[in-house]
Amino acid sequence: MSVKYDTDRPIKVIKSLPEGIAECLPDGIADEFERRKFFMREAIKAAWASSSSGDVPVGCVIVRHNEIIAAACNERERNKCATSHAELTAIERACAALGGWRLVSCELFVTLEPCPMCAGAIVNARIPKVYIGAPDPKGGAAGGMFDLFSTGVNHKPEIYRDILKDDCSRLLTEIFKGKR
Ligand SMILES: [Zn+2]
Repeated sequence: MSVKYDTDRPIKVIKSLPEGIAECLPDGIADEFERRKFFMREAIKAAWASSSSGDVPVGCVIVRHNEIIAAACNERERNKCATSHAELTAIERACAALGGWRLVSCELFVTLEPCPMCAGAIVNARIPKVYIGAPDPKGGAAGGMFDLFSTGVNHKPEIYRDILKDDCSRLLTEIFKGKR
């Protein structure tokens, strides 16, 4: 069965990888690290939008062909909704942008290890590559608390950890410091 993936209609690009980095690809591993850091920085920027509503700052961007097509932050408090996690909202936006639920040409960058709900959404959206900033030993479902992706689920993404880990961890500690 052939599956039609992304549509050919124009997709609104939020931000592209700068030329300087894009030109280097895929020449060396160092450039790939720069690329990952660039998109994780964008996820960190998205996370800051959480804090104005008192939400724990978690940010997520979804990248397709080195272009950000969706960005979101944790908005549980703002929306008074338990499912308003950054990854879930970003996945919804990416599906809407592409006109389909299979995000097989996408990569997901998130500042905090996904929870079980979001890890499930990553599986369901068939996202092939996930880049994680800070680990979450208490609630993470990508190896922190347990590893959903190793349970025999029908889709197993490649996981890349510790992308700008210190910056992503600092996001969380700074906000809690501010609340005390
Ligand atoms: Zn989540």
